[in-house]
Amino acid sequence: MIDTAHLSPAPRPLDRDGLRDSVRDKLVYQVGKDLRHATRHDWFLALALAVRERLVDGWMPSTRRVYEEDGKRVYYLSLEFLIGRLLGDALTNLGLHETAREALAELGVDLDRVLKVEPDAALGNGGLGRLAACFMDSMATLEIAGMGYGIRYQHGLFKQGFDEGWQVERPEDWLAFGNPWEFERPDAVYPVRFFGRLREERDPSGRRIHIWEGGQRVLAVAYDTPVVGWQGRHVNTLRLWAAQSGNLVNLEAFNRGEYMHAVEDQVLAESISRVLYPADATEAGQMLRLKQEYFFTSASLQDIIRRHLGYHASLDNLPEKVAIQLNDTHPAIAVPELMRLLIDEHGHDWQRAWTIVRGVFNYTNHTLMPEALERWPVGLIEQLLPRHMQLIYEINAHHLAELRSRPDNHDPFLTEVSLIDEAYGRWVRMGHLAFLGSRRVNGVSALHGELMKHTVFARLHHYFPEKITAITNGVTPRRWLMTANPALSSLIGRTIGDGWTRDLGQLEALAPHAGDAAFRAAFAAAKRHNKEVLAALVGKHVDVRLDPDALFDVQIKRIHEYKRQLLNILEAVALWDEMRQGGAAGAVPRVRLFAGKAASSYWRAKLIIKLINDVARVVNADPATRDRLTILFMPNYNVSLAEKIIPAADLSEQISTAGMEASGTGNMKFAMNGALTIGTLDGANVEMRDAVGPENIFIFGLSAEEVLRCRRIGFAPEEAIARSPRLARALELVESGLFSPDDPGRFRPITDDLRGLDHFLVTADFDAYWNAQRRADALFADPEAWRRQAILNVAGMGPFSSDRAIRTYAQEIWQVPLEAAPAASAFAA
Ligand SMILES: *Cc1c(COP(=O)(O)O)cnc(C)c1O
Repeated sequence: MIDTAHLSPAPRPLDRDGLRDSVRDKLVYQVGKDLRHATRHDWFLALALAVRERLVDGWMPSTRRVYEEDGKRVYYLSLEFLIGRLLGDALTNLGLHETAREALAELGVDLDRVLKVEPDAALGNGGLGRLAACFMDSMATLEIAGMGYGIRYQHGLFKQGFDEGWQVERPEDWLAFGNPWEFERPDAVYPVRFFGRLREERDPSGRRIHIWEGGQRVLAVAYDTPVVGWQGRHVNTLRLWAAQSGNLVNLEAFNRGEYMHAVEDQVLAESISRVLYPADATEAGQMLRLKQEYFFTSASLQDIIRRHLGYHASLDNLPEKVAIQLNDTHPAIAVPELMRLLIDEHGHDWQRAWTIVRGVFNYTNHTLMPEALERWPVGLIEQLLPRHMQLIYEINAHHLAELRSRPDNHDPFLTEVSLIDEAYGRWVRMGHLAFLGSRRVNGVSALHGELMKHTVFARLHHYFPEKITAITNGVTPRRWLMTANPALSSLIGRTIGDGWTRDLGQLEALAPHAGDAAFRAAFAAAKRHNKEVLAALVGKHVDVRLDPDALFDVQIKRIHEYKRQLLNILEAVALWDEMRQGGAAGAVPRVRLFAGKAASSYWRAKLIIKLINDVARVVNADPATRDRLTILFMPNYNVSLAEKIIPAADLSEQISTAGMEASGTGNMKFAMNGALTIGTLDGANVEMRDAVGPENIFIFGLSAEEVLRCRRIGFAPEEAIARSPRLARALELVESGLFSPDDPGRFRPITDDLRGLDHFLVTADFDAYWNAQRRADALFADPEAWRRQAILNVAGMGPFSSDRAIRTYAQEIWQVPLEAAPAASAFAA
């Protein structure tokens, strides 16, 4: 048990009768419904409002305490927060799950049915946004005075459906029934300017001052959501900005009958927070995307400054009192924006302002793919944010002059470290801007941190060797184990106690139980239960029967060429073919489960979805293999679906081309829930292998170093294909039109690419992947051995809690004090 005496007192418990009465009151007085006519949705709102009241009970003292202590605050700026549903999570953290179940039962309502109607808040695309959500949970749990800043998108990530196997996108509408969690703050409003002109003046002392005027001015309005930590001891705030026009309706135009024109201003302004960009890594946004980035960054910085000046005489001590984390480069415009606020609005001189900026910001890099590194045309920034372009030039001039004067510099042009990329056109490198304006720059796994030093930031790293560090991502065990997998978490609780919920390192104590047959049986029963639940869910929506005895082999994540869903489906084709021919005797019955969205403009990814669906249709209809192989692509992947699939998985597919997945967090969720991993030595898979032992994970394929070498000296897919009859056969089957009789050439773009460039080295890793899958078959055929390894995976997941990640950020980057830390969950290395 951990000592909790130093923690804030837990809020008073709420009993069943209290909660029941509260829910009834909310239903009548806030939802405005009679008990007899209330829909499931009304009950959801009533329960959420009752629970929110409990959150507020903790929120007020937390906020007051933070003000009184006047310690350092942490701000997490992220264009995405993939928070998902909040009710189940809040009940878990407040310890109210069973109370709520009983209270609702007394009202004749089933809690599980109520939990299901909450919309899934998909204010993010994937891993980056989900990381921000897990970090919010951990900051609250560790009682760090943290605040998240983002955008309150009216429409989150699109809903995915299939039309004859093709992805179709439908708008998402999470706010349709109102959002019971948020508080609108009409008093927390900031103006944000776009376009306009620059003018120079002299102030009375003769100093040059810059005035930015005209253009478009929109208002950022705050919406606050309380974020409760484990056991409700501390509650932080997620503040999301909505865009509004500063002008009301144009009455003159309205009275002339020009109704569209009359509201034009509002429509334009509100478009900024209308939709989440479905951009994922490779896709560059347009003007509106840059507007979104500046909009939320500027509003957040103004808010931070206002709060600071409410308690301090000046901004000089900002770096002692504030740490701001930039989640990727989306908020990198914060660097010139804080310069502008300090110089133009608060009268600081350039040098002092730059010192403050570099003491406040820190930047997390999430990708090394050249096509995914954000850069904006100089002309676009000049037009939209003229003052910022001027400041970027100034920062660049100082930066280059400083490097030129250094004795270790032998490069007169410094093209690689310049903030401006002038190779083809002129672009602002947002990664370089964030790097330069930050105190620390971090990668998200050990491997990724190392690669940063040798690839994109190699030259900058040479000049600033102390800046780059690596902090491996983590996930919150409260949502991803406790809430998502009650069967396994209660078994863990019965076996080693409940301390793991706040100190995941305690899972280590499970390791000895891997040798205990009774424990293995209980572990298997929990997994079996989860597989049955998933099979029932699938059966309700599609006409596919999942056999809970089969190996559930799962790849769920964004569809991206580097994540190599293609490798997975090609291996499935080869396996099916071998089964048809009477081979593959050692292959156990499998369900190959896929889920994931493709960015709407990522044509190749959409074609891969179609391929998987086409293969699934043919394979699932084959009576010869029906009992041994089922392929299923579940539509509309999101946090809620992940929470259902992951606890039911036996095998977790983490098969990216080595060097391309910065960390991954899906990999951690699966292993925590007792799945074995089949994966490459990429991202955090490397550290997971070290944590669970190489004998308890199926590692295959080229290393990151070998991938780089392949790319350098050139790689010949035709040789790999010639060496692998199975791969050759799988490709030929796809090319034959067997899976697409209506359009036999449909997948030629994919197969031609595999035979031509194969940039993601699918053909190079195919045989190694096949062999790793057969090792998985062999182990699964020995259930006791499989369970033993699965248990050891859970036992090894201590380091992959987001609590550990946040504790490391707090110590190494933000330099904020922590309550005594449970030491067991630190990395051993
Ligand atoms: C965890 C998670 C991700 C990230 O998954 P990776 O496998 O690391 O890419 C993406 N989307 C959702 C909904 C998640 O829960």
